[in-house]
Amino acid sequence: MAVGNLGKPNAKTNTHLIGIAYVKDTHENLKIFMTDVNTKITQLQNTEWNVKRIVVFLHGDCDFLCKVFGLSGPQGTYPCLWCLTTKKELQESTEKEPRTLAFLKSAFEKFKIESGEDKRKAAQYHKCIHKPLIDIELHKVSPPYLHIPLGVILKHHQMLEQAADRIDKQIYEDKNPDRADNSCLLSNLGNNWKKWMQKQKEIAFFKGCVAFGEAESSSQTWMEQLEKAQEVLETISHTPLTSRPGPVCSQLDAVLDKHAIPPQSYYSCSFTGNQCNKYLLLSTPRGFQRHHSVNSQDNV
Ligand SMILES: [Zn+2]
Repeated sequence: MAVGNLGKPNAKTNTHLIGIAYVKDTHENLKIFMTDVNTKITQLQNTEWNVKRIVVFLHGDCDFLCKVFGLSGPQGTYPCLWCLTTKKELQESTEKEPRTLAFLKSAFEKFKIESGEDKRKAAQYHKCIHKPLIDIELHKVSPPYLHIPLGVILKHHQMLEQAADRIDKQIYEDKNPDRADNSCLLSNLGNNWKKWMQKQKEIAFFKGCVAFGEAESSSQTWMEQLEKAQEVLETISHTPLTSRPGPVCSQLDAVLDKHAIPPQSYYSCSFTGNQCNKYLLLSTPRGFQRHHSVNSQDNV
């Protein structure tokens, strides 16, 4: 338990451990624990301190909250603890009527009497398969923090990706020869700009090897490699620019990669909580500076 209306409610000195059990958090185990806790919570909610009423809020992850309020789980037909939106409606973002503590209790009573607690019929009773273990109104239950940044950050990154793609396309379509070399490179080669850059790097390396090679025989081998690379460079031709392989998009991937956020986790829509925290840190001015002070990427 933590006192909420303090400067640092999560500080060690403001958080009080009121119980611990080395068991799995099944509904049955929680029931044993919560029955006792609930009596105290009800007392607290009816307590006044310095002419102020005490309000109790509940925090926890989705799984824990569902178990405490007697729902069969955060998946399935009615995945939301706070309202009666179905999984399908959630994607269409239509608003549905909210659940309340009284609703949960009466839905469970119906489930008990009408279905004889037949869990296969749980969906008919809005997944209320147990009596709520705690008397805290649902509007005093905070949505799990993790689930909020997951969606927001995914959306933010989608927008960033779209913006990066637009810039790449603008550079690609701008045929003005007075612009910097690299933009011409993108216009001239499209998707193959990166292949060309990599070949150029190889050529520079081989040139160095030819110039500084000690033995004459090895110098000869480097020379052959150099000629081969130059031939390949000549063959690299234009392929129209598609979404994503442009330089700005590629740089965005490089930034994610550098901060141990695999870009693949974005494409599969599976940013984890830890990755979201890193992402947020990266968006702060300090994170931005840190990235730029060590950034030695090509000037694309
Ligand atoms: Zn909802």
